[in-house]
Amino acid sequence: MRPHALVVAGPALLAAVVHAGPGATWLPPVRRLLPSLAGEGDPGHVALTFDDGPDPRSTPLFLDELDRLGCRATFFLLGEMLDRHPEVGRSIARAGHEVAVHGWRHDNALVTRPGRVAAEMGRAARLVAAVTGARPSWYRPPYGVLSAEALLAARWHGLRPVLWTAWGEDWTRRATPGSVLRTLEPGLRGGATLLLHDCDHTSAPDSWRSALGALADVVGRCRAAGLRVGPLGAHGVGVPGGARPHRLPVPASFYLRPET
Ligand SMILES: [Zn+2]
Repeated sequence: MRPHALVVAGPALLAAVVHAGPGATWLPPVRRLLPSLAGEGDPGHVALTFDDGPDPRSTPLFLDELDRLGCRATFFLLGEMLDRHPEVGRSIARAGHEVAVHGWRHDNALVTRPGRVAAEMGRAARLVAAVTGARPSWYRPPYGVLSAEALLAARWHGLRPVLWTAWGEDWTRRATPGSVLRTLEPGLRGGATLLLHDCDHTSAPDSWRSALGALADVVGRCRAAGLRVGPLGAHGVGVPGGARPHRLPVPASFYLRPET
């Protein structure tokens, strides 16, 4: 849901910064300074990503629409949702989409007790692999907030952190297909990583309909501009033509509690 919800965290956020380390990676200037962390990729490609699922009420409709459009995407799954709806998770992978990790619950790393983000990331990654048969490669933190613990845990679990370069603000009660398209439009360019949601688990009820309704136009605009649209795995993040990989601030050996 709303990646900038962090701004209301207040005093709890300040108290948590002690263990949070490089936290506010969601801030646009920070993402501009770390292009590969933002998902900046192949200039001829746009990465399409969906967060917060799987949900049997909405995800299958996204799969149908993506199939109709002949388009593959990356789905950042929540462990608690996949645990409840494994058959939907399997259908995502079976349709040829990429599955990735969005954590177990939709917790903000800055207001979560030390050790929990790492443990739940590992639990979610194992579940994604067990349910879908595909080993996940990517991690996107809820709200885009990457703590030092989350960065190190991602490295420990072989997951690459990635945020987004443009979002559709599809999580609000007021969102419509038109508003999602207008919000995304300035960011529809080569190398972009687009953030949408395939369910309303942490968003306004039924807000996913705005993303679903915008999908054909989003993909159509990109293709009309000569851009390919697909998953992060085909986006060339960190390879020639894309952005260089970012480095973690400290080695993974500093991370001592991956499974607690
Ligand atoms: Zn989310």
